[in-house]
This record gives sequence, structure tokens and C-alpha cells, in this order.
Amino acid sequence: MVNNNLAAPCGIYCGACRAFLLKKKDQLEKRGYKQGCDGCRIRFKKCAFIRRDCPALLKKEIDFCYECDKFPCQKLQKIDSQYQDRYSVNIINNLKRVQEIGAEKWLHEQQKLYTCPECGGEICVHDAECFDCGNRINPNIKN
Ligand code: SF4
Ligand code: SF4
Ligand SMILES: [Zn+2]
Repeated sequence: MVNNNLAAPCGIYCGACRAFLLKKKDQLEKRGYKQGCDGCRIRFKKCAFIRRDCPALLKKEIDFCYECDKFPCQKLQKIDSQYQDRYSVNIINNLKRVQEIGAEKWLHEQQKLYTCPECGGEICVHDAECFDCGNRINPNIKN
């Protein structure tokens, strides 16, 4: 079963997010973090675009940024370039993929992508590490 809550409106896959995985795996204290996250659509208030006050997202007028007539707006492009630089993730391409195949199939793809090849556990994109076995890996970077 995929969790629709994990497909953020901006194209980020919350299932590979540090805040989400630390909370899910009860590792916040162990790794020295205070706050976890349950995923964008549950949390609603604080992640990237909501925090930066996008009216369309705040009012829940759209489900994903690709539905917006400003797509890809400057805010989205900025986050996209940060994600590309830091994590080799292209969130604008993610959104195009969601539009192409639908959120459910995309979530399956993402779940598979972030499954550790060593132990079948879950990879954190922000730390490039499997939080189950410690394997150092960013699946977006092919060797
Ligand atoms: S912090 Fe942001 S990216 Fe991470 S799970 Fe929460 S909403 Fe998703
Ligand atoms: S693309 Fe549209 S919905 Fe998405 S952050 Fe930009 S203005 Fe908001
Ligand atoms: Zn692993």
C-alpha cells in the first residue's frame, strides 16, 4: 500500500525525508533531532511552499503544482535547483512524472527507488543513508 500523504504538492517524496523517517523509525533522539514530520499533507503548515505562503496551496485550490497556471513558478524553480544541487533530485521532473502516470504509480516508483538494495529498508535522501542498515547511498546518483 502506498501512502498518498507522501506525495507533496511541490513534487517532493516525503517518504525519503529525514524528518519523516526519523519520526517513523523513532530515531529522533538517537540522531539528535527534536522534530519529526508525518508528511506534507498531514502536516500542512510548515514545509517549503506553504511556509513561503503560496496562496493556491494554502487554500488547497490545487493538489499538485503542475495544476497551477504559474507552474513552474520561481519559488518552485528555486527549491528544485536546491534539491538538484544537494540531493540530485529534480522535483519539477517529479511533478511531470506525477502528471504523466498519476500519484499512486509515482509513489510506487519512489518507494522502490528509496528501498535499500542491501537490506530492503528505507533510504533517507537528505542523509544519503539507509536508516535501517546504515548503507551509504543516494539512489539518484548512479555509479
Ligand atoms: S518535512 Fe517536508 S518533505 Fe519532509 S516529510 Fe515533512 S512535509 Fe514532507
Ligand atoms: S507552481 Fe503554483 S502552486 Fe506551486 S508553488 Fe508555484 S505558485 Fe504555488
Ligand atoms: Zn539498508
